[in-house]
This record gives sequence, structure tokens and C-alpha cells, in this order.
Amino acid sequence: SLSERLSRLAKELRGQARITEGNVQDMLREVRMALLEADVALPVVRDFIARVKEKALGQEVLGSLSPGQALIGIVNRELAATMGEGVSDINLHAQPPAVILMAGLQGSGKTTTTAKLAKHLIEKRKKKVLTVSGDVYRPAAIEQLKTVTAQAGAEWFPSTPDQKPLDIARAALDHARRQYFDVLLVDTAGRLAIDEALMREIRELHAALKPVETLFVVDAMQGQDAVNTAKAFKEALPLTGIVLTKMDGDSRGGAALSVRQITGAPIKFAGVSEKLDGLEVFDAERHAGRILGMGDIVALVEQVTAGVDMEAAQKLAAKVKSGAGFDLDDFLAQLQQMKSMGGLSTLMDKLPAQMQAKAGQVDMDKAERDIRRKEGIIQSMTPLERRKPELIKATRKRRIAAGAGVHVQEVNRLLNEFEQMQGMMKKMKGGGLMKMMKRMGG
Ligand code: GDP
Ligand code: MG
Repeated sequence: SLSERLSRLAKELRGQARITEGNVQDMLREVRMALLEADVALPVVRDFIARVKEKALGQEVLGSLSPGQALIGIVNRELAATMGEGVSDINLHAQPPAVILMAGLQGSGKTTTTAKLAKHLIEKRKKKVLTVSGDVYRPAAIEQLKTVTAQAGAEWFPSTPDQKPLDIARAALDHARRQYFDVLLVDTAGRLAIDEALMREIRELHAALKPVETLFVVDAMQGQDAVNTAKAFKEALPLTGIVLTKMDGDSRGGAALSVRQITGAPIKFAGVSEKLDGLEVFDAERHAGRILGMGDIVALVEQVTAGVDMEAAQKLAAKVKSGAGFDLDDFLAQLQQMKSMGGLSTLMDKLPAQMQAKAGQVDMDKAERDIRRKEGIIQSMTPLERRKPELIKATRKRRIAAGAGVHVQEVNRLLNEFEQMQGMMKKMKGGGLMKMMKRMGG
């Protein structure tokens, strides 16, 4: 992963206080690899790297960060800034009905997203919503919209495969006006690939409907191909927003960066399941971490300047010393302490040599993720359970696991680990702990 590669590089660069022409080259090569692995299109990667380089050169490296970690911070901020400009919600500033036109390839998720948006607009913005399908090429497509529209609690305007999409759209708009709908969502036909007839049709629909939003729906799993699709749609239509679907898949989501850069339109929503509640406002910062393949390590890097919370460490030491016992709240505090020290790789640099050798065999990326999962598990426990872990039996374990979104085995593992730690703490009797924390805190 990127963070592994950068922390390897960081070792070589230890002690360098600035990002320079000399040390940035290797690091940028790693960033480029990470972006390509996430399926960001090559020309977009080149552009992006050039911008990052310009921002990074001469930057001072703060505190206990290495140049590699500082660069992660810069890359992440640039990614988030590139993907995150603009207003996120649907624009409805139009004489009602506000028309929303859905565009995209077949299978990209237009029909599903139409229903998801209908539900969103009804529930979050209290709108009266009508949907209509202009997909006359597949009879099932019209039925599909009818079904999901009913599930969304919106109204559906009938259309049939023998009609022309333009006639359907006009009739629906007329109906929406007369029945005082706030919003008309127009689902359209997609093709398996871009073709001229499809583009002409959607351009005509756009001209007739004058939509306030023209949303380009694109499958996050499309990777590199998303670029050509985005180009074609941008040339055909003045896109006002992007919906990135199937974000629940295992793609690293590089399509987001490519499509954003190529269309210039803001990414408004992310589809995260087949179900109608699976629509989220797009979160650029979270997505930046996903593209770089390092979860929340970025957040850790940003936190490093906060340093170690010595007060918390002292409290913990005093507690252990007084024999009050080491409970899950303390365990949680320790996990959080590790994070505030700037991530495990920074922490590792500060460990004694023989411990470093051992820790070197650990996958840092995974370790960071583990910390987060453990935090999630403890945070799913009640205060009582945290103080008295012995209360946590099968039923509670299942509830905690469900709350944290993990398997019960993981809860078991955490509890075992906690017990071991508790045993260690008893032996250390506080004094040793304080020393250890001081050493790690620098
Ligand atoms: P259209 O051809 O563009 O109208 O695409 P559809 O809305 O029919 O969606 C194609 C397939 O993708 C269907 O099986 C949907 O259930 C699925 N789909 C759409 N959006 C999402 C999403 O965000 N996540 C997942 N997992 N599946 C989705
Ligand atoms: Mg469809």
C-alpha cells in the first residue's frame, strides 16, 4: 500500500526537514502508482502529480512527521480539494417543477438512482416528486422504474415502448406542471457504449426539458473506462453534477477523480447499495483516503501535531498504580493515544531497536485499520460493559459486533487482547507504564 511504501522511503529520508526536488521524486512515483492502482486515468494522474509537486516543494516537515508522511498530507488535501468543491445537494432553484435529467451508460445505475433521489427529495426536502422513464428500448426498464418509484413513495408517470422519448418527456412535464409537482425526475435510456443516436436523443431531451440538474451517473467500478464515457457526456450535455454508484464494491474509486477532473462537475452523491436508502452525500475527504488505499492513516498524520496527551497518560498511570484496575475505557484511551502520536509508523521509529525489528514484520496499514476497528468495537459497548468486561457474554457480544459492523470473533479477539494487556499492566504497576509512554511520546 501507499503508506507502507512511503514509510519505507521515509526511513531513508529520516532527518530531512524539507520536501525537496531531491527527495520528492521517489515519493511522487509511489503516489503515482497508488493513483494508477486505484484506476485513476493516466492523463488525470499526470496533471494531479504536477499540482502536488508544485505544492509540496519547499514545504517544511512538521514535528515528528517524515517527509513521506508530510507528502501524504499534501496529496490527501489536494485530492479532497479536487473532488470536493461545489454544493453537494440537489439544486431545485427553478420555477416548479424542477426537472432533473439522468444521464449515463446502461447499467450505470440511472434507474436505481432516480428512485433513490426521489426518496431523498421526499424525505429530506419534503418535495412532491414525479418520475418518468424515457427508456423505450427495453420494456422492462419502464416497469423497473414504476416498481422502484412506488418503493420510494413517489409518483410515476406512465410511458410505453411505442412512444418517442421526447413526447414522453413533454407529456410528463405538462402533467407535473398541472398537478403541482415540485420535482420531475427523468430517467433515460443508456447504451452499452457511447453512440451518436443516444447522444442526440439526450441532447434533444435536454433542450426540451431545460433541466435545472443534469446528473451524470457513473459506475465507480468502471475505472479507466469512466474517462471516455465522461468525455462523451460532457461534450453532449452541460452536466451539473455527478453521481458515483456502486461505491459499496471493492473498487478504490479512482473514477471519482477522473470524472470530476474531466467534466468539471461536482460529485454530489455516492450510491452505496442496491437499496433505495443507499445514497450518500459524497464525502471528498473520506474518498481521498480510499483512493490512496490507506483508510484513516491520513487523519492520523493530520493529528500528529496534537502530540501525546500526557495528562491522559498520567491519569492512566495513576489509576493503574492505585490498583483501580485497567478497564476497557483505559484500553480505548491507549488506542487513541497511539493515534495521537501520529500513527503506528511514527510510533515505530521511536521504539527501542529490538522492538522495532519485531514490529517491522507487521503490516502497518492493516495495523492502523485494526486500531480503528477495535475503537469501533469498544465504542459499541455500554459504559458498564467497559468497566466490567466480564459481563460481556454471548448476547452482548452479538449486539456489540452488530453495532461495530464486525464478526463476533473479532469481539472475542479484542477481549482476549484486552485481558493480556490487563495482565501486563498489573505487572507494570504504573511506574513502568509512565516511563514507556514518556519514551514513546518523545
Ligand atoms: P441503469 O441501466 O443505468 O438504469 O442501471 P440500473 O439502475 O438498472 O442499475 C443496474 C444494476 O446496478 C442494478 O442491478 C442495480 O441494482 C445496481 N446498482 C445501482 N446502483 C447501485 C449501487 O450503488 N450499489 C450496488 N451495489 N448496486 C447498484
Ligand atoms: Mg435504467
